[in-house]
Amino acid sequence: DEIEIVDDPKDLVKRPPIITIMGHVDHGKTTLLDAIRKARVVEGEAGGITQHIGAYQVNWNGDKITFIDTPGHAAFTEMRARGAKVTDICILVVAADDGVMPQTVEALEHAKAAKVPIIVAVNKVDKPTANPENVMNELSNYDLLPEAWGGKTPYVMVSALKRQGLDELLDVILLLSEIEEYKANPNRLAKGTIIEASLDKSRGPVATFIVETGTLKVGDIVVAGNTYGKVRTMTDDLKRRYEEAGPASPVEVTGLNTVPQAGDIFMAFSDEKTARQIAATREARDRENERKFTK
Ligand code: GDP
Repeated sequence: DEIEIVDDPKDLVKRPPIITIMGHVDHGKTTLLDAIRKARVVEGEAGGITQHIGAYQVNWNGDKITFIDTPGHAAFTEMRARGAKVTDICILVVAADDGVMPQTVEALEHAKAAKVPIIVAVNKVDKPTANPENVMNELSNYDLLPEAWGGKTPYVMVSALKRQGLDELLDVILLLSEIEEYKANPNRLAKGTIIEASLDKSRGPVATFIVETGTLKVGDIVVAGNTYGKVRTMTDDLKRRYEEAGPASPVEVTGLNTVPQAGDIFMAFSDEKTARQIAATREARDRENERKFTK
């Protein structure tokens, strides 16, 4: 029952890239995500009070970049298993003192399977034991030959802890985005992916949406997995409220009737009746499947 969206190429406009950070445990994914977020907050965009909603967006030299704020590839693979493809580019974080580890290999294999381009962030270059060249050598065995060595993979030397190399990393992301030309049609009903969802004591079901195409508006009727509702509020990680959210925007949405699942696709509809019917059909289908499997 998924509705395929086919846009006229002339309606497509540039949209921000959506980035996932992957890599071995303790190689610095969380520190890097925090450092990028803080670099923006320091720019004075807001008071600095942030909430975790599973994704955030930064402005860099006049362009926006969206980061999925759940490090590790568990979320990535689960969403992919559910048919969602939310990531445009994977940042593979490798600690320069540790080198390639089992989860580094898993992460790069997931990115390759999903045909998502990889940028390698060689992290912890501030450490005396850092050996970036070793990382480049090891990853060359996995088809990630550095550009500097005549290959195709961009490598950026960073220290997430000391906040070094972040500007260059953001530059490289935008450069790659220019080449890949990510586009969407903002002038249609929104479609996208749920990346997090939970039940809030006071606000009811809350879910973080990443809009892939179209523009989501307060008051829109949305179906998300088996649930539906009317968008009541949309906020970002800085608690700023929005009336509209365009392609690649991450927003926390309230107004759904029940809690959807991470990886669910959401779609906006012009009328509530259709939305209710689709949600009910899906629920019935899921119940039927459950019945079959538990027999
Ligand atoms: P994750 O498991 O990949 O999310 O890794 P974390 O971000 O939690 O980092 C693991 C540890 O490495 C923490 O103690 C960090 O402070 C440290 N760390 C992260 N980035 C750097 C860095 O650039 N340099 C140094 N020296 N330590 C770092």
